Amino acid sequence: MAGPRSTAAFERAKHVLPGGVNSPVRAFKSVHGTPFFADKGEGPYLYDIDGNRYVDYLMSWGPLIWGHAHPQIVAAVQEAASKGTSFGVPTELETEVAEKIVDFVPSIDVVRMVNSGTEATMSAVRVARAATNRSYVVKFIGCYHGHADHFLVKAGSGVADLGLPDSPGVPKETAERTIAVPYNDIDALRDVFLERGEEIAAVIIEPVAGNMGCVLPRPGYLQAVRELTRSYGTLLIFDEVITGFRVGLGGAQARFDIEPDLTTFGKVIGAGLPVGAYGGRRDLMEMVAPSGPVYQGGTLSGNPLAMSAGLVSLNMLEAANREGFYDKLQAYGQQVVDAFLELGKQYGIPTYGHAIGGLYGLFFHEGPVYDFEDAMQSDGATYERFFHAMLENGVTFAPSPLESAFVSGVHTSRELEITLGAMKNVFAGLSS
Ligand code: PMP
Repeated sequence: MAGPRSTAAFERAKHVLPGGVNSPVRAFKSVHGTPFFADKGEGPYLYDIDGNRYVDYLMSWGPLIWGHAHPQIVAAVQEAASKGTSFGVPTELETEVAEKIVDFVPSIDVVRMVNSGTEATMSAVRVARAATNRSYVVKFIGCYHGHADHFLVKAGSGVADLGLPDSPGVPKETAERTIAVPYNDIDALRDVFLERGEEIAAVIIEPVAGNMGCVLPRPGYLQAVRELTRSYGTLLIFDEVITGFRVGLGGAQARFDIEPDLTTFGKVIGAGLPVGAYGGRRDLMEMVAPSGPVYQGGTLSGNPLAMSAGLVSLNMLEAANREGFYDKLQAYGQQVVDAFLELGKQYGIPTYGHAIGGLYGLFFHEGPVYDFEDAMQSDGATYERFFHAMLENGVTFAPSPLESAFVSGVHTSRELEITLGAMKNVFAGLSS
């Protein structure tokens, strides 16, 4: 239950913001709740304006790999702000961040900074369409790539239904250029290619799906997607907005050893400041203006506050990676997942989940979960009770059953203990 101050703040916000929020999931609609309003964050903890403290696994939906208000990141932002918040001419910082990304991510030769994941995916598709002179895009059901028109597409039943807009305001003609197929089903993708492979500019995929809960690719699946796209001259875009610098320093592509043509980033690069990026092979990225004819720009792109936070964060990740950082994050997530599975068994409640790097997922479903259809069969009502009860016990997850949980480098055994203790209490209540 949100406290009185949060409840009042939400009522006030609803008069001037659509639904009281600036991004729909924040309204807690999927869990039929009232959102708590943030006051401040401190490392792994989030405090609301009623004075409640939560161990935070939302981590701002992914960016906070160093937790809230990390002193080094705060200092970098303060120093940058004291010199000016935006210049509209280039800074050396932008090159430094780009050099880090190029260094860490194997497939990237050239990268362009933008302000959000949505901008990144939208722009990557534009490059792909320009490079191939084709217009169709394939996405996977249950993968989210931001709110650009051509990604707001729901698939109908069947293997390769042409897209229907998921939202009013998206022209039918735009949605029709997007084909949605089930995740983890290479035959479904092959069928689409058999039908119109020569017209498909790009396949865009979350290499680990993070927006239908956390769903891993089946062994060999990404490789097969890579081979299929290559054989048709279709570009493969890895949307690593969630997985970038989170499942490993080189992202999912390094982890699974796949070379996409283009990659999109967001979240972790900005350590909580607004940022996105897209990059890839030099010949493709040189098509972007002013090197080439594909237009894309931004008043605040490469913003010095975001770049300062990003540079410190990436430098810290580079150093920590040498000390087994991502294995530690995964071990932490795995312990939460293991406890979740164990408690499920103990109380006869179907549970399923897994962890990869700093990302993990919990499903109220017996599993396995390979695609959106499986994920949709998980028990949303139980998740809702779990979510609210965990909040009461001082732990916050995403306010929706179809999201992932995020671990940061500042979650310690203390927070793990709080989490496991809370889960024990909560499961006892769930079974009654
Ligand atoms: N791609 C993926 C995989 C995402 O998870 C998101 C946002 N959750 C986006 C793109 C869009 O990013 P943004 O919200 O920064 O526009």
